[in-house]
Amino acid sequence: AKENGRNTYHLYNKSLHRDLTDKLELMKRLRHAVDEEKLEVYYQPKVELTSRRIVGLEALVRWIEDDGQVIGPDRFIPIAEDTGLIIPISNFVMRRACEQLKLWHDLGYDELSMAINISGKQLHSPDLMERVLESIHHAQIPAKKLELELTEQVFIENIQSHTNFMHSIREHGIALAIDDFGVGYSSLAYLKNFPVSSLKIDRSFVQDLPHDNDDATITQTIINLAKNLDLDVVAEGVETEAQVDFLLARDCVIGQGYLFSKPIPAQQMTRLLQQYQGL
Ligand code: C2E
Ligand code: CA
Ligand code: CA
Ligand code: CA
Repeated sequence: AKENGRNTYHLYNKSLHRDLTDKLELMKRLRHAVDEEKLEVYYQPKVELTSRRIVGLEALVRWIEDDGQVIGPDRFIPIAEDTGLIIPISNFVMRRACEQLKLWHDLGYDELSMAINISGKQLHSPDLMERVLESIHHAQIPAKKLELELTEQVFIENIQSHTNFMHSIREHGIALAIDDFGVGYSSLAYLKNFPVSSLKIDRSFVQDLPHDNDDATITQTIINLAKNLDLDVVAEGVETEAQVDFLLARDCVIGQGYLFSKPIPAQQMTRLLQQYQGL
């Protein structure tokens, strides 16, 4: 038994060691990718379900490896947060997305808004507000065409500096969305205290619509909540026409998901815009 125990320990230790070296290796490669500008911003449309027009875009970061392989943010945002690399990454995303929005506005798609994801860790950066404003001024886009998406967790934490940041954002006319809304939290009191402009219904509630009764109830409830609080509501992860029908019947008029488009590079988005809105 003793022998066994030691073996287990040994194995555990070995895999822990592997995890650590993997993590260090990933960290090194990510730092390099940031320096060498191997990151790219992809865009996914938010579509008005009635008219099927694109009303906004969400910026989603990608890491493009030398062999062309595309690495998604779920694989590197956590490590970027742990290492502080999230700051240069998000500065890049913000600047690039604002510049790109300006180009699309100049092409005539001037109603488009741009949403950018901000993680909780980023809110600890004291110059975030400055960076946001700098990106807007640099690109010369109207502040009201920019939206920041923050997950519910950030609103729950109720940290004074976060609260200040959110009010300051709204004072500048920038929109504020709660991302992944409805996941895991029971208190809704924060909706009273924060100057939120929209709710994004988490994909997990949308994916089994229209047949799943619980998800149907939850979605309906979130839509009602948004309506009563005078907030916009966006359904994430829309993949089928049946989901569109369900949402429209309940007065949720904006959707985002693979039914319309996956996140795609800017050039491809320009073509998609032509397809959807003409010009
Ligand atoms: P998110 O903000 O909730 O973004 C939505 C995610 O769902 C995206 O994954 C998108 O590709 C995926 N998605 C959209 N529609 C569908 C659909 O119909 N079906 C399915 N199965 N998936 C769909 P992605 O691009 O891998 O991003 C993952 C997360 O990484 C994002 O979740 C966001 O939290 C984070 N993220 C992405 N870009 C940034 C960034 O620039 N900064 C920060 N801080 N976080 C980012
Ligand atoms: Ca988001
Ligand atoms: Ca989301
Ligand atoms: Ca998410």
